[in-house]
Amino acid sequence: MSAIHYPATSLKPHRDESLLNGHLWIFSGALQQPPRWVENGGVLDVKSATGQFIARGYYNANTDIAIRILTYDADEDIDLDFLRRRIRSAQALREVFDPAHTNAYRLINSEGDGLPGLVVDRYADVLVAQIHTAGMERLRPLVIEALMLETGARGILLRNDGQSRRREGLQIEEPIIASGDVPEQVQVRENGVSFFVDFWQGQKTGFFLDQRDKREALRKYTRGKRVLNCFSYTGGFSVYAALSTPPAQVTSVDISAPAIDASRQIFAMNGLDISNHQFIVADVFDYLAEARDKGEFFDVVVLDPPAFAKSQGARTQALKAYRRLNLLGMQVLKPGGILLTCSCSGVVRMDDLLGAVSLSAQRLHRSVQLLESYTHGVDHPIHIAMPETAYLKSVFCRVQ
Ligand code: SAH
Repeated sequence: MSAIHYPATSLKPHRDESLLNGHLWIFSGALQQPPRWVENGGVLDVKSATGQFIARGYYNANTDIAIRILTYDADEDIDLDFLRRRIRSAQALREVFDPAHTNAYRLINSEGDGLPGLVVDRYADVLVAQIHTAGMERLRPLVIEALMLETGARGILLRNDGQSRRREGLQIEEPIIASGDVPEQVQVRENGVSFFVDFWQGQKTGFFLDQRDKREALRKYTRGKRVLNCFSYTGGFSVYAALSTPPAQVTSVDISAPAIDASRQIFAMNGLDISNHQFIVADVFDYLAEARDKGEFFDVVVLDPPAFAKSQGARTQALKAYRRLNLLGMQVLKPGGILLTCSCSGVVRMDDLLGAVSLSAQRLHRSVQLLESYTHGVDHPIHIAMPETAYLKSVFCRVQ
């Protein structure tokens, strides 16, 4: 039995169908009337048009997604124990990682782990959390307490700087220590490769954990090769390639000077001689055009750009950018070379990405073999009823 009495709101007739498969969003148009008596972020019960309990979630009048569901169980209260159970379940999934090899991973992936609006990344003994919704913000003290109790972390850094917070009516915050102690940065291992993570200032929570499995998959193609890593950030793909046997000769290109500086240090930390590799601060589009004009060629090209489209409206422009980028990437790829191309734009589908590769190949009269395709790693689980929360597509191709 639920110990707490929650306010309730009702759906219009037949609007509960999408919820039958466990989807966690209710759009404002599905509600009989906006529950004005509930504050933004407040927890409420959702009932069918005939008054049957369907689910319990939190409400926000500011957003199209009016309610994000936390539980379908009428007896489950939204309290510290609820959060602890969800965190334990998430942690059990991450036991796939042997900490001797990998101690950096996403611990909580929002809806994918049954905690909408909450992202928590683990870097060794430090957690970096991001709260994206008003509902999760109201649970913040409990979330922090539950994380400390369940994970044995040394401290939690809150990076509440995601732009989605504005839509929710929340402030963008400076990074703050929410609990325990958090150092300047930590050293982590990923598949036995060492990185340091600057979670105070780095992009996202400091590292692109969602590319772990692709970085591992890349290794087999880079032995003794000349590799170009575009949008290299702190050198994730680059270090893996440079560590292959025989080692690859790697060129890393990113527009961010601090990221390129960090990648030099990360190479050195892994015992690599940085004088064997190139580190370039540049716009990738300019770099590729120049390399093409100079007749430079690589055996392996990695294209892992930032999201070119953040909304449906930006899709057409984004598709053009993906086509241009893949064409340029292919122009510096030797015949028989390997192209790893990625898109982290939610509105760009796998077939769009493949289309960009295919069109580029047609224009250059080259043929493409699709070798491997990936989404996110296992630490970014996607709720099966919510494919719209998946965003990452990555494919390995051989281009003749
Ligand atoms: N592959 C990386 C993550 C890439 S994230 C990893 O595995 O860690 C995208 C990167 O693209 C960011 O580092 C950002 O600084 C860089 N970037 C964005 N626009 C760019 C541009 N036009 N040219 C070069 N780099 C760019």
